[in-house]
Amino acid sequence: MEPIFQGILLLRDGRDLCSNAYVVRARDGSEKILLVDSGDGKLEGVAGLEPELVLLTHGHFDHTGGVKKRWRALLHEGDFLGDRFIRAPAHAEKYPLEMRVRWRDWNFEIIHTPGHTPGSVSIFERKSGVLFSGDTLFSEGILGRTDLGFGSQEQIEQSRDDLLALDYSVLCPGHDGIERRR
Ligand SMILES: [Zn+2]
Repeated sequence: MEPIFQGILLLRDGRDLCSNAYVVRARDGSEKILLVDSGDGKLEGVAGLEPELVLLTHGHFDHTGGVKKRWRALLHEGDFLGDRFIRAPAHAEKYPLEMRVRWRDWNFEIIHTPGHTPGSVSIFERKSGVLFSGDTLFSEGILGRTDLGFGSQEQIEQSRDDLLALDYSVLCPGHDGIERRR
């Protein structure tokens, strides 16, 4: 586990087709955790966790595969699709309409950033400056793929512009390493 910010850890292994997962710890003394993405089901360290909530950046199987049935998981309504690569957990719930998730002492803004998939979101925690960008934007300005079905190059470029305009300090993408901005 790699510490990103106080209370946030990165879980990552070397496999291309497995997403990163980020563990967010409550700082209210409860020792509860939240997970951003879950890996493909084989990501080391995920199986032993018991998150109170999982925020999914999109529905691709390498991000959703680690979600267990008893875990509460949120996914954007745009990714409740039938597709070869998009696999919404059957019990997943949709993000609330106000696109904000308050969990314990954290306050997440859910930003719809379509293009990689129709329901891709990025998750911004304004206080810490941490931005979870899923497969929309990677380090060094690299954009996610749009050739996997339901992708849109035009949309992902707009989504990137939306993200770059945010006052974030750490980019936490769905694959590979993080990037610190200032
Ligand atoms: Zn993806």
